[in-house]
Amino acid sequence: MGSMEHCVNHPSKKAISVCHNCGEAYCESCLVEGKEFYYCNKPACQAAMRQESAAALLPEKIKCPSCSSELRLTKDERAARTFHCPECEAYLDFTVTPPMVLKDKKYSEVFSSRNQGDIALLKSFLDDSDIDYYVSGEDFLSVYPLIQPAKFFVRDDQVEEAKGLLKEFNANLFGVSRRKNPEE
Ligand SMILES: [Zn+2]
Ligand SMILES: [Zn+2]
Ligand SMILES: [Zn+2]
Repeated sequence: MGSMEHCVNHPSKKAISVCHNCGEAYCESCLVEGKEFYYCNKPACQAAMRQESAAALLPEKIKCPSCSSELRLTKDERAARTFHCPECEAYLDFTVTPPMVLKDKKYSEVFSSRNQGDIALLKSFLDDSDIDYYVSGEDFLSVYPLIQPAKFFVRDDQVEEAKGLLKEFNANLFGVSRRKNPEE
């Protein structure tokens, strides 16, 4: 670590800082300022920067995009960014932009993982089935490691079917089913 570090892209320019994601030194014109850190323009580092801002808590008060009620959120809800509106019962997902509103249907979480291989494989399993599902936290999938696990939700009347499929999925992944995700 010399004091005369130069920009990786511009060897003649002096580096002003390092990218928070890849740790390489860059000049002023090669860095973008995130909420707290600098990031370079590499796609993976830009994704990390988006995650930095997305990981921020939701505000304490939020307007339900479905019924327009003013909602006061708990700290958990603000961090999770997904919750039910107590007024209209809609399931709100603020991990995506614009927020997703799921009305009339009830969904339950059946699986969550930070392992991108698991997530991709389970998606292909579900795509091959008739199960109506969605994944929350998906826009974080390009970032390693995931700060929040991706959560799989299926329609309540298909939970049993989904659980059967998950068994098959686990067997497929590991040869035997496991009890706990070692990464958690
Ligand atoms: Zn970088
Ligand atoms: Zn530069
Ligand atoms: Zn509402």
